[in-house]
Amino acid sequence: MKKSTSATNPSKLYCAIFGHNYKVTRQVTHHVKEYKCSCCKKELTTNSNGHLTELTPKFKEINATLAKIYSNKLSRMNAQRFNTSAA
Ligand SMILES: [Zn+2]
Repeated sequence: MKKSTSATNPSKLYCAIFGHNYKVTRQVTHHVKEYKCSCCKKELTTNSNGHLTELTPKFKEINATLAKIYSNKLSRMNAQRFNTSAA
């Protein structure tokens, strides 16, 4: 039996066999979340189609923008609710 010379990450092998163990690391918006595999540290995010995709630097950028818009929207909604309930 040949010994593999490539540095195989044992946790990656575990994920390949048993599947990733994703945990939500960040709630970007109500629909978009970021996930990280607690085993091999692979990161995923929800894309605009609602499907999971690899969290690339590009998606991190998109998510940061989304989070900003989302928190603005939320605070505006909260302000509105406050105004109407005060009336
Ligand atoms: Zn994994």
